[in-house]
Amino acid sequence: MPTVNLNYGKLKDSYLFAGIAAKVNAYAKAHPDQKILRLGIGDVTQPLVPSVIAALHEAVDDQSKAATFHGYMPEVGDSRLRSAITAYYRRRGVELSDEEVFVSYGASDELGDILNLFDRSLDAVLIEPAYPAYADANVMEGRTIHYIETSEADGFTPAPPRDPFPALIYICSPNNPTGAVFTKERLTQWVEYANSTGSVILFDAAYEAFITDDALPRSIYEIEGAKTCAIEICSLSKTAGFTGTRFGYTVIPQALVRDGAELNAMWVRNRTTRTNGVSYIQQKGALAVFTEQGQREIQELLSVYRQNAKTFMAALDQAGLSYIGGKNSPYIWMRCPDGRTGWETFDLLLEKAQIVGTPGEGFGACGTGFFRFSMFADPADIKEAGKRIQSVFL
Ligand code: PLP
Repeated sequence: MPTVNLNYGKLKDSYLFAGIAAKVNAYAKAHPDQKILRLGIGDVTQPLVPSVIAALHEAVDDQSKAATFHGYMPEVGDSRLRSAITAYYRRRGVELSDEEVFVSYGASDELGDILNLFDRSLDAVLIEPAYPAYADANVMEGRTIHYIETSEADGFTPAPPRDPFPALIYICSPNNPTGAVFTKERLTQWVEYANSTGSVILFDAAYEAFITDDALPRSIYEIEGAKTCAIEICSLSKTAGFTGTRFGYTVIPQALVRDGAELNAMWVRNRTTRTNGVSYIQQKGALAVFTEQGQREIQELLSVYRQNAKTFMAALDQAGLSYIGGKNSPYIWMRCPDGRTGWETFDLLLEKAQIVGTPGEGFGACGTGFFRFSMFADPADIKEAGKRIQSVFL
């Protein structure tokens, strides 16, 4: 009889970021005078916006006086913050009740924790290339995973499987790593598939704020029927620079019922058992993001990364390189020139241009031959990287 969860032994070695770090460190040691431009990991570089900083300071001061001190917060979130989030959705035409919004410490926590709601015999469906944590969280649980491989032919936004079966379906849009965005038509097919098979979609909307094209859905609840089949997982990490501050939110509609159980009520029970809520300080900081002023400021923040993408896409265009993403997404997914693999392109760009990106095969086998650039880098580095990439490929 095992003592530990033996499923951990089935996890593939996470060679991707460790492999990148080892190669970059070795290069930096051998070439200490060279400036390495890091367009690899998707961490943000710009600071928090002024209204968030003011709110965080104020929150710390509140905790210093008995009259304004806060102890435990409601496990599911402060009521003003939940209302501010439903108002954020309402501005985009999505009606939710405050009880359908749960605050969290971030999307990663939720993507793992939410699996507790589902039977382990329910298979997972993953669209590859994919954010590696989806597979790992399910492998840890011993769940069977079905992979759907995508390519340029379907724009990396595939149709649902032909054979209908109930599953836990992961959809990430705008996508990490491909930058592809699911259209309303494509998402409608998935919603219909999920409702007809009794599946549940886990919609990862961590990058929704990057969508500027009004025709593209930022929330799965813009699709009719989604409230009976989808959970939406969101984060302020990339929207408002909270990667190190931590804050996210999850939407579970009350209409989402499986086996006679309301998933919303189950999650209330889960949160009140397994957490004691998100800190008062972080919730106050997050609330500032949803004010009018906060929204104006984060648009300015996002415009830095959007401009990065424009600058870099112009450089790729001039070099005749083909790619997707960058338009409604902070990621650019480049087809590796001259039939190289992602790792070969990685070595070439590091050696010849001192640019670090991420090899596509790190996100699944069908990512081979592609390369991801993150637009969260410093604007000066992006400009320089654009020049250097041209010197390699022109
Ligand atoms: N989902 C996707 C697709 C991501 O790319 C990331 C972070 O890079 C996350 C979730 C995790 O976000 P958080 O910082 O909120 O945990």
